[in-house]
Amino acid sequence: MRFCSLGSGSSGNATVVEARDGPRTHRVVIDCGFSLREFASRLARAGLQPEDLDAIFVTHEHGDHVGCALALSRRHGIPLWTSRGTWRAIGEPGLDGEIRFARDGETIDVGSLRLLPYTVPHDAAEPLQLRCTDGARTLGVLTDAGSITPHLLDHLRGCQALLLECNHDAQMLARSRYPASVRARIGGPHGHLCNETAGQILGAVVHGGLRHVVAAHLSEQNNTPELARQALADACGMRPEDIVVADPVLGVDWLDVG
Ligand SMILES: [Zn+2]
Ligand SMILES: [Zn+2]
Repeated sequence: MRFCSLGSGSSGNATVVEARDGPRTHRVVIDCGFSLREFASRLARAGLQPEDLDAIFVTHEHGDHVGCALALSRRHGIPLWTSRGTWRAIGEPGLDGEIRFARDGETIDVGSLRLLPYTVPHDAAEPLQLRCTDGARTLGVLTDAGSITPHLLDHLRGCQALLLECNHDAQMLARSRYPASVRARIGGPHGHLCNETAGQILGAVVHGGLRHVVAAHLSEQNNTPELARQALADACGMRPEDIVVADPVLGVDWLDVG
């Protein structure tokens, strides 16, 4: 199994997960927070075309996650999985029968890839994040969550790779020029994870088999790659240079989970 990020941050997010099973390869894209044209060009950078995708999973209705998901599904006939709450929030699009409803705790099989959606605290209708496995290896994905829940931790345990939101540095956010109401939303229990909280999550689930840690969804105003790297490295005993930071434009090149 391997995965890559096509870009991550407040202006757009997309992660591709791929599993091989003999001659067959299956791929899911988690969120499509770019225009169709931009998405296709980023996908090409990862060596893929839209036809190579077997499923789309949309975590929640915010624009940096939905992006071109509906257009991509319609144009290429790719099944789109999302929660009923997210589907309602984006206007209950028909999608020519390609809509599939995801629920917390109900696994989704995409060929040899098994996805397990789980609920997170975020200011959206019914946000779901994902645990992905090919049966041997597991990737835990968590962005857009405001606080730690036991449920969330349960879904990130035992993973060989983790993609974790490190949205902001709490002090940078406090000093930012954002209005107080926006600062309160971002830093609140249904907002976004700060570096310190991401570190606490990592510290709670770290184990000897964890190979890749990716810091994602960094705010360009209220965080730096160095601060995110340091917070995660401190939490799991890795060196800062071993923590990968997902770039808003370049994302992260393919990482092999094994
Ligand atoms: Zn987001
Ligand atoms: Zn969001």
